Amino acid sequence: MRVLDSGVLSRFLGVWHEDFFGGPEVQALEKEWATFFQVKHAISVNSATSGLFAAAGAAGVGPGDEVIVSPYTMSASATAPLIYGAIPVFADIEEDHFCLDPKSIEEKITKYTKAIVVVDIFGQPYDADTINEIAKKHNLIVIEDAAQAPAGKYKDKWTGTLADMGVFSLNYHKHIHTGEGGIIVTDNDELADRLRLIRNHAESVVEAKQVKNLNNMVGYNYRMTELEASLAREQLKKLPKVIEDRQKTVSFLAEKLGAFPFLSPAPARNESLHSYYVHPIKYFKEKADEIPRDVFIEAVRAELPLTELRETEGVNLGGGYVKPLYLQPMYQKRMAFGDSGFPWNSKHYQGSVSYEKGICPVTEKMHYEELFTNQIIHPEMTESDLMDIVNAFAKVWENRSELL
Ligand SMILES: *Cc1c(COP(=O)(O)O)cnc(C)c1O
Repeated sequence: MRVLDSGVLSRFLGVWHEDFFGGPEVQALEKEWATFFQVKHAISVNSATSGLFAAAGAAGVGPGDEVIVSPYTMSASATAPLIYGAIPVFADIEEDHFCLDPKSIEEKITKYTKAIVVVDIFGQPYDADTINEIAKKHNLIVIEDAAQAPAGKYKDKWTGTLADMGVFSLNYHKHIHTGEGGIIVTDNDELADRLRLIRNHAESVVEAKQVKNLNNMVGYNYRMTELEASLAREQLKKLPKVIEDRQKTVSFLAEKLGAFPFLSPAPARNESLHSYYVHPIKYFKEKADEIPRDVFIEAVRAELPLTELRETEGVNLGGGYVKPLYLQPMYQKRMAFGDSGFPWNSKHYQGSVSYEKGICPVTEKMHYEELFTNQIIHPEMTESDLMDIVNAFAKVWENRSELL
């Protein structure tokens, strides 16, 4: 109501002017976000996808470069380098934590590697100490996709603030949301400057602002509106409670489901706080009378009610997470911009990359065999709701002879 009454739904101007940085709600949100997350700069955008794209641009990623990415994430983590004409190179994930595996990253580094996009997948912080060290050694920029991990912690730092740049999402499905929206954070003044330019028509501003480095100074309109910013300011206040509720829900579920010998709720990384966008659990077929995961999970799904307000999505529990990204048609057919194979066949690209099935064996094992995920922890769950889930597993297990 404050924004509607003000009559100012957005105050961005795409020219070098005091309104280049947006209106009062946008600027207040950015200040409050930076304070909460203890970072120097918070830059609001209209989605985490935009945020990842802007981060790749700010990092100076371009044609001929390779960027190491995870195959087990939402697709935009990997398209961020691609839209700048760079090549996504997929490294494998960790067996227990599902984030990028530092060993696999090291194997994928070439003289063309420019950056790494790490993902705090499901809310689990990436292995920041090890990966940041690798990046430093090879002079690589690290972009942290923290869309699924607001207010998680790694040692004494917030997830999202562990790399050169971090990106949060405020889309409808995320822990806190504004319908659509995103926030980029960084402690680096130069990157922050470039991010703000890319957000708002950089090419029209560089002359007046006397920007010297024109690399990737093609701008977009990634601006957040005053309405979303005002919602985000209220949502941010609720974040600690939202995370706490999810952690309680997950620890209840993990204890009950962990009692089944064939289930193993995935642990949080040592010295860290998982923020549980998704609750990952491993299923061991050999301990479940050889019933395949998908057969078992399908039977459990049939026992569960739909989640309120998310009815159209079906039961939010299923085998795997997303299909390993390199198996998507875009990578398999190497067709992204136009139909001539750019950027893979561009004269700028001297390396070679594989998207064959089998390049990330741990990812494939998790996706097709061992892992199942649920997002039933999303809304406010009562103990009796949670017992419905536990009882569904118990019922299917007791009647497994029918499945066999
Ligand atoms: C949701 C999500 C995104 C994209 O967020 P949007 O705000 O919808 O663009 C990016 N990365 C990951 C890991 C996500 O879960």
